[in-house]
Amino acid sequence: MPASPGLHHVTAICSDAARTRDFYERVLGLRLVKRTVNFDDPSCWHLYFGDATGKPGSIITFFEWPAAAPGSPGSGEAVALSFAIPKGAAHEWVRRLTEEDVYVAIAPGADDALTFHDPDGLALELIEQDWAETLPGHVTAFIGEEQAIRGLAVVTLLVEDCDATANVLEDVLGWRECARATHRGFLRLRFSAPGEAGPGRLIDVLKAPQAEPAQQGAGSVHHIAFRAADDKTQAAMASALRKAGLTPTEQRDRTYFRSIYAREPSGVLLEVATDGPGFLVDETPDALGTGLRLPARLEAHRDEIEANLPPLA
Ligand code: ZN
Repeated sequence: MPASPGLHHVTAICSDAARTRDFYERVLGLRLVKRTVNFDDPSCWHLYFGDATGKPGSIITFFEWPAAAPGSPGSGEAVALSFAIPKGAAHEWVRRLTEEDVYVAIAPGADDALTFHDPDGLALELIEQDWAETLPGHVTAFIGEEQAIRGLAVVTLLVEDCDATANVLEDVLGWRECARATHRGFLRLRFSAPGEAGPGRLIDVLKAPQAEPAQQGAGSVHHIAFRAADDKTQAAMASALRKAGLTPTEQRDRTYFRSIYAREPSGVLLEVATDGPGFLVDETPDALGTGLRLPARLEAHRDEIEANLPPLA
C-alpha cells in the first residue's frame, strides 16, 4: 500500500497579501520562497512561505482574495495549524509576539502550545518539539537559530465523523492513529505519518458532531496537501482514493510539484503533491521568492498580470 510520509503544505486564504507577507516573513521568520499567482485564477497572488528552501512539510501558502469576508471556522476544514519550535524557545516567542502586539495564550495540554491568530484570524500555534533542533532553522534579522520555526507540527481538522476521516488517513495515506483523548467532551484522535518524527507528521482529528459547517473566507484553510514521493506513488494514492469512494481530480502541474485533489467525506479538501521538482526549479537558492514567477502558459500575459496584482509591500 502506498503511504504518505507527511504533509507537503497547507494553503489558506488571506485578504491582504502585503500584510500576510509581513506577518509570516518578518514576525514569524518564515522565508517567502515563491511569489506566484493562483494558476487557476492568475488575478490573485499565491505566496509560499517555508524554511530556507521550502522543503515539503515546512510550507504554508496563501491565496489572496482581497474581497473575501472573514471565514468562520467549523466542521469540514482545518481549524488550527501548529509550527514546530525547538525546546526552550517558547519563552522568547511569547516576548516576541507580545512585542508585535499579537495576543498570545498558553494552551495547557499535552503540547503546551502557544496559541495566537494571524492578521486574518487563522488560528496558529507554536509547539516545542524534540526533533526541531535537529533541523536547520531559517535565521532572520529578528529570529535566531534557537527560536526559528522548523516546519509544521500538527494540523487540526474539525469533522462531524472521525471514522470517515480516519479511514482516508489510514487506508489511503498509510497514517496510523497514535493517540486518543477526550477534551471537554470532544473526542480528539491523533494520527502520525509512518517513519521518524519530523515536520508535517501529525494530524489531530477533532470530532464535533454539533458544529456548524465551516464558512470559507479570509483566515480559512483552503486545503491540506500530503506528500507523495513521485508520480507513481501519487497514482497509487489516486486509485486508493477511488477505492475509498472519493473522486480525485486528474493530475495538475503546479510547476513546483504535481497535484491531485479530492474532498474527504467530512468535507476537508485534500491534495496529494509530489515532492519534486521543488522550488529551486526556477530560482537559485539565494533568489528564492524575490521575483514574480509564472508558469510558461501565463508568461505571455506577464505585464497584464503584474499590473493587476496588489503591491506586496
Ligand atoms: Zn496546494
